[in-house]
Amino acid sequence: MNQIIIQKYGGSSVANTERIQHVTSHIIEQKKKGFSPVVVVSAMGDSTDHLIELAKSITPNPSSREMDMLLSTGEQISISLLAMAIESKGYKAISLTGYQCGIQTDPIYSKAKINEINTERIMAEINADKIVIVAGFQGINSNGDITTLGRGGSDTTAVALAVALNAELCEIYTDVKGIYTADPRVVKDAALMQSISYDEMLELAKLGAKVMHPRSVELARKNNMKLVVRSSFELDHHGTIIKEVKQMEKAQVRGVTLDDNIVRLTVSNVPDKPGIAYKMFSALAAQNVHIDMIIQNLNHDDLNDISFTIPKDELYNVKPTIDAFVQEVNASELLIRTDVAKLSIVGTGITSDATIASGLFGALYQLGINIEMISTSEIKISCIIDEKQANEALSEIHNFFQLNKVL
Ligand code: ASP
Ligand code: MG
Repeated sequence: MNQIIIQKYGGSSVANTERIQHVTSHIIEQKKKGFSPVVVVSAMGDSTDHLIELAKSITPNPSSREMDMLLSTGEQISISLLAMAIESKGYKAISLTGYQCGIQTDPIYSKAKINEINTERIMAEINADKIVIVAGFQGINSNGDITTLGRGGSDTTAVALAVALNAELCEIYTDVKGIYTADPRVVKDAALMQSISYDEMLELAKLGAKVMHPRSVELARKNNMKLVVRSSFELDHHGTIIKEVKQMEKAQVRGVTLDDNIVRLTVSNVPDKPGIAYKMFSALAAQNVHIDMIIQNLNHDDLNDISFTIPKDELYNVKPTIDAFVQEVNASELLIRTDVAKLSIVGTGITSDATIASGLFGALYQLGINIEMISTSEIKISCIIDEKQANEALSEIHNFFQLNKVL
């Protein structure tokens, strides 16, 4: 059998019929080279955003089951159009929804995880010499309901299929040339990386580099699946390879990111006694909230402040839970700050070199920027700062670590 390669095209790569024709030629080229392409596509352009607006114009808080039903339609449009385009060029193609290609997920609507993929149908179509076009971002749960994997989830569909089909390679096509040392729209001299390790890419993705869905990188790392991120607009560029990279001892900052899609919450004056943090965070865990940095500081008179960050779009669901907690433990109040951003530097082993942290803090100090929260892991240092100064800080930190010279 021919080698299977997975190609995933993001929304901008299939934004209109012209773009669809363009990627069609590229897919057919792979077929002519003797590969069996399995293609995963996102919804056209910003159509997922438009579907969300449509739902919100009916009700501010639609049920997540119906949202998944609605959002999954975006990908159905792009897969069928792409299959038609391929057929019109004289090649055999078939589009399949998540359900049709056996993508089984857990029951959690809007952020479902893939449990398994039954590849029988896809394999049968590949063996019938068809180019298979799969709807990204969606699956089916054990109730037989459509689920979605969370925004940007088509990358995860692509990697999961690559693993299940034992593909040679998984290519992620987007509208930038690959992975940069910082967002090239903000930092003018950001450099394109030739390769990056799974660990570093995972951190960059989690910390705001929007180009990859973090779960897709995690899945690729777990299964050692080679990923390539490249542009469908400039096909002569080879993009960035994400793979296991042998690291020597020297720690090096590889990239800087900014995430302004966060909110900082502070619950002030909670009693300083066992079980308090557990009470609050277990209530949040029950709502599947993505909690990030957590800081507790002792105030005075056996009272603590607990601060943490969450994604902005979770605030609506989380606020009533925290309000109830404030009442229950007799805390003073819940303070909400939406005008913050998280600036992070990423690189294997960077916290083992103290000059890197001090360099970062020093550069922020030079800019007169106050650091509100700090968190570290072996591979990253993140600071919460004022959103207004965030872009300036990003460029300055990129400059400070001379990332424009990184290959
Ligand atoms: N269409 C979905 C979104 O916009 C999934 C994806 O593009 O990966 O989030
Ligand atoms: Mg994406």
